[in-house]
Amino acid sequence: MANTVDLDEIEEFEDKPADLEVKIKKLANMVRDCKHLVVFTGAGISTSASIPDYRGPNGVWTLKAQGKKPKARTSFDDAIPTPCHMTLKELQDRNILKYVVSQNVDGLHRRSGIRKECISELHGNCYLEVCWSCSYEQLRHKEVRMKPNPFNGRCKPCLKRVPHFCHCTLDKCVKCKTPMRDSIIHFGENLPEKALALAYENGREADIMIVLGSSLRVSPANDVPEETVGKGGKLVIVNLQKTPLDGSAALRIFARTDLVCQMLMKELAIPIPQFIPHRIIYIGNTHEEISTGKQSAVDSESATEKKSSHKWTVYLRGEPGTDLTPFIGAVSFHLHTTFKPDVITLYKPPYEVTKVGWGIFNVNLVVELNNGMISEYNHMLDFNQENVSTKETLFLQQGPPEMIEEGTDQL
Ligand SMILES: [Zn+2]
Ligand SMILES: [Zn+2]
Repeated sequence: MANTVDLDEIEEFEDKPADLEVKIKKLANMVRDCKHLVVFTGAGISTSASIPDYRGPNGVWTLKAQGKKPKARTSFDDAIPTPCHMTLKELQDRNILKYVVSQNVDGLHRRSGIRKECISELHGNCYLEVCWSCSYEQLRHKEVRMKPNPFNGRCKPCLKRVPHFCHCTLDKCVKCKTPMRDSIIHFGENLPEKALALAYENGREADIMIVLGSSLRVSPANDVPEETVGKGGKLVIVNLQKTPLDGSAALRIFARTDLVCQMLMKELAIPIPQFIPHRIIYIGNTHEEISTGKQSAVDSESATEKKSSHKWTVYLRGEPGTDLTPFIGAVSFHLHTTFKPDVITLYKPPYEVTKVGWGIFNVNLVVELNNGMISEYNHMLDFNQENVSTKETLFLQQGPPEMIEEGTDQL
């Protein structure tokens, strides 16, 4: 049963600082020498992002088992990746970490920058919509499942595939127009086949598997670390509570995952990047050749000529399905000075300016966020070019003034 908890299983332990130091040095050596590092993560890594884990003393299931109500959680939308998530992202970018297997649905791995092809989210991702027909996927910024579903228990296409739940999100696939589904795996549903197969495959290939923040009590996901042990790989478990695989671990660390990651990265002399919330935006223009055929009868010279002009629209757009209004206060378009007025400021979407004219000139876009931050972008507008756009990043918070390389001897 999912929501019964043996209270002995939730007791938390912490290594003494001196023991922890020794263990981290050993872990750093293992990471330095490894060939195929795989990390397996559970709810414990997201606790510092204000998302409750399931089995800790304040975990959702523990409180339920004790007849208490779990505290209202921070919406996943507001949660930002922890130092542990950012550590994994950095190790991935340096090609040290080869694969992540996660039981978490909070989407923080993908949000931190873990690439889609480098992760198996075994229980799904709250932000990910999938098309069951053509496999198109859309990662959104808002939880896909916010409203109660009116078709629950009655949706035939869903019931064909899952026991009793309708996964329709009420969106349509942009590719094939069939209903989109959320990707969350409910109790009683099979884990996603491909994600599970890749998890096992990487589990077998791993020479080191580090378990971070999981009590390894949810089957069959917890079989993945056993694959590693079975193939002679080394298992490292970082978790405050005991796990059924403790006896098979080459290294067992009782400490918070953020602390372990911070100490590990210091030992490896790799700085942990800071996560800065952001959105992807597209800046571009569309163009249309229009005929200005309304010549007056008196204009005899041009009456027989076909006249055409160029109508273009320069725009700033978010990714489909994202709402930029909570962040953007105003967008100003600075056009060529021959336009009157040459600066057009828009306070709500659509952020686009349509003009008729020709030329190739730079449009400067100034985005003012509600928090006072200002970002600037440039778009070279070629009046004659059909829909061209560039993908840009709109940072929603100030980043660190400069990256300080911690743990290095350089000044
Ligand atoms: Zn459905
Ligand atoms: Zn589709």
